[in-house]
Amino acid sequence: MNDYLVKAIDKTKNLRLLTVTAKDLVSEAQQRHDTWSASSAVLGRTLVGSLLLAGAELTDKEELTVRLLGNGPVGPTIVTAQADLTVKGYVKNPHIALPPKKDGHIDVKQAVGQGWFEVTKDLGLKEPYTGQVPIVSGEIAEDFAYYLTKSEQIPSAVGLSVFVNPNNTIGEAGGFMLQALPGASDELITRTIKRIKELPALSTSFLDGMTPEDLARKILGTDCKLLEKDNVAYKCDCSKEKYAGILETLKTSQLQAMINEDHGAELTCSFCGNKYHYTEDELKDILAKKNAEKDY
Ligand SMILES: [Zn+2]
Repeated sequence: MNDYLVKAIDKTKNLRLLTVTAKDLVSEAQQRHDTWSASSAVLGRTLVGSLLLAGAELTDKEELTVRLLGNGPVGPTIVTAQADLTVKGYVKNPHIALPPKKDGHIDVKQAVGQGWFEVTKDLGLKEPYTGQVPIVSGEIAEDFAYYLTKSEQIPSAVGLSVFVNPNNTIGEAGGFMLQALPGASDELITRTIKRIKELPALSTSFLDGMTPEDLARKILGTDCKLLEKDNVAYKCDCSKEKYAGILETLKTSQLQAMINEDHGAELTCSFCGNKYHYTEDELKDILAKKNAEKDY
């Protein structure tokens, strides 16, 4: 696994930056879901953006879920990232490929469409916190930045990149998330944004071998401080037991139908594609457990 995330801070300690290279984990998502180019770009960018957000904001056992709820052909995109920098996700329609834009890039904006960008954070409190903003761009990086600025009042700049090869494999994936801390002067922010605007296309740089450390120095300056380097990965925490728990929440009549008519059930995890099979006897056990709990 070559994917990792770097946390850095500028010389004045007023700008926090996270950079990541994530080709392997986006490749795993592409293979698990058999996504085509536009779906790969939407899912990949959302996976990378969510990882950066998790790296910036989560600790311990916390997790966050990003929902990109657009009306474009790819359909809703759901990604969950953990504080340990593992991530999983899926798109409703994996088999979307669109004609390229004039500049040759994948038309991600078209693929996403209009709608809502939602972030739910489970911080171990009673109620998870959800923030929602309209999709302002559809290119996804700008939507993460807009969400951070509007919903969390953290002035931010975000860059996300996924390069899809003609045979649908992933050529590169990566990105950055810059957050201005309260002490950041306008002059510092303006200078840094100018540096970001002058960067060559992220995809080209990553394909040319740029590392997250290189990217951090390009954005914050060579005098920045690199604080941390952590591995990142695609990981789904599903299991047969976990889905049995979900079956238990179905109506008794639905479980009965699975037992009497289907003589078993097969569930597929949306996040990773793993399949879980339950025999008639296992379903009877689940139903018995459900009824036993109801009696309390
Ligand atoms: Zn799974």
